Amino acid sequence: MMATGKIQKITIVGGGTAGWMAAATLSHHYRQHALQIQLVESDQIGTVGVGEATVPSIISLNQYLGINEREFVNATGATFKLGIEFCGWRTPGHSFFHPFADFGAPVAGLPFFPCWLKLHREGRAAPLQEYCLSAAMAKAGRFAQPDDSAATPLALYSYAYHFDAGRYARLLRDYAETRGVRRVEGRVTDVALNPHSGDIETLHLENGSQLDGDLFIDCSGFRGLLIEQALETGYEDWRHWLPVDTALAVQSRRTSAPPPFTRASATAAGWRWRIPLQHRSGNGHVFSSAHMTLDRARESLLSNLDGPPLGEPRPIRFTAGMRKQFWHRNCVALGLASGFIEPLESTSISLIQTGIEKLLQFLPELVPEPEKIREANRLNREEYERLRDFIILHYKLNGRDDSDFWREMRAMPVPDSLQAKLDAFAEDGRMLVYEQESFREASWLALYNGLGYRPRRYLPEVDSLDTEQLAQVLEKMRRAVAAGADSAPTHGEFLAQLEAG
Ligand SMILES: Cc1cc2nc3c(=O)[nH]c(=O)nc-3n(C[C@H](O)[C@H](O)[C@H](O)COP(=O)(O)OP(=O)(O)OC[C@H]3O[C@@H](n4cnc5c(N)ncnc54)[C@H](O)[C@@H]3O)c2cc1C
Repeated sequence: MMATGKIQKITIVGGGTAGWMAAATLSHHYRQHALQIQLVESDQIGTVGVGEATVPSIISLNQYLGINEREFVNATGATFKLGIEFCGWRTPGHSFFHPFADFGAPVAGLPFFPCWLKLHREGRAAPLQEYCLSAAMAKAGRFAQPDDSAATPLALYSYAYHFDAGRYARLLRDYAETRGVRRVEGRVTDVALNPHSGDIETLHLENGSQLDGDLFIDCSGFRGLLIEQALETGYEDWRHWLPVDTALAVQSRRTSAPPPFTRASATAAGWRWRIPLQHRSGNGHVFSSAHMTLDRARESLLSNLDGPPLGEPRPIRFTAGMRKQFWHRNCVALGLASGFIEPLESTSISLIQTGIEKLLQFLPELVPEPEKIREANRLNREEYERLRDFIILHYKLNGRDDSDFWREMRAMPVPDSLQAKLDAFAEDGRMLVYEQESFREASWLALYNGLGYRPRRYLPEVDSLDTEQLAQVLEKMRRAVAAGADSAPTHGEFLAQLEAG
């Protein structure tokens, strides 16, 4: 068991997105404490070099750190993200949008979806996304900040960013170094454990120097230098549910205005991403190596770029899953060192953020307590498993029939926790919500509906509404959404206005 005295020195290994997010947040959070923070990273090893799409929680991190949105967008080449466009997941040629927003507004106190479903069954409803302002703006290539004081729920939505991860790490590095974090350049070659307690005691660097610490944060990426290689914490492998295990990543030149959304296009054995930044796009093809060769994946990636590639596609291999404990002995793993559930919903950076939040929540006075560590690990597992289920859903409900990959994904048994959700929704549109869900009901609905998975029945109360009146109310909403989208500036105009201040 780890020593239980007050932590005076924290040593972070790794200077990717995870390492610098941790350094920046910890240096700000514990600013009143006599705490030393040091971070060791190796330019020679480098970072994973991907991870550029986010979810809305990134906004609260920047706000917490006091980083101004305009400075952030300019410094990181960021664009705005209203959600993800899924192409070809239901059938080739079909697409749908997963916005960071609800669809429609309640009608006479009843939730919108069953009202829509009633009309849809009668062939009188427009597609669900036409009742969602952020989906309509995305379709039109437009973006505006949400007006939190808006009188109608139709005008409410969240947004996130696409950014250059290297530039973001650099911004956070400057932030952390200004607040006293010491950066050490060097490669850790050996990790010495205390022979009695089993805790990490000393890191040995290639140049012969040593680093000690009371708490170590492992941000060393997939290798898990401390949490796995030194502490042998163990990894839970989820490849039987999520068999994609290889990504090919390449950047390309921007030749047109950046769209305000990420695109995820299904391929024969996985999917391709397109992440638009101001100065370039990030692209990748994530696929199952058991179902597709690297050459074919490369060809599919390069022949679908929006602009000329800025290099050769780079392969990255991974195993979907999670570390059995993210906090083990005197070590906390963040980022890829703690697990990875494939990049489909851009959740990895938000998991770094919530990992840091758990650390801060359960270490308020810098004195570690075994019970709190157990609870932090329990919550972390819950969060990972809920995200895992949401990602599996995308594959399970696919409607493609053009390859073994998609047929196998449709036929596979899913975790009981997900099956229970699928069953409840299929029955009458009910949503089961567990602890530590990262994605709200609206997100599940976007996926269910986008993939054509509809309930057998809907709320009986909806039948008390007059169909004609319901049709009029929904039409009014649809028009309000269309007008709202029309009045927003284009995404390019919005970015130019922001840059000009
Ligand atoms: C294909 C793919 C696509 C992704 N897309 C997204 C996305 O769109 N959105 C999202 O949120 N996330 C995404 N992710 C995840 C995201 O890339 C990571 O969560 C994020 O980059 C954090 O990585 P990291 O800091 O944990 O690791 P890394 O970037 O790998 O950094 C590891 C650090 O450890 C250092 N290091 C390692 N070993 C040593 C050593 N021995 N001595 C000293 N230093 C060492 C390295 O030098 C480096 O600084 C994606 C991941 C993959 C694989």
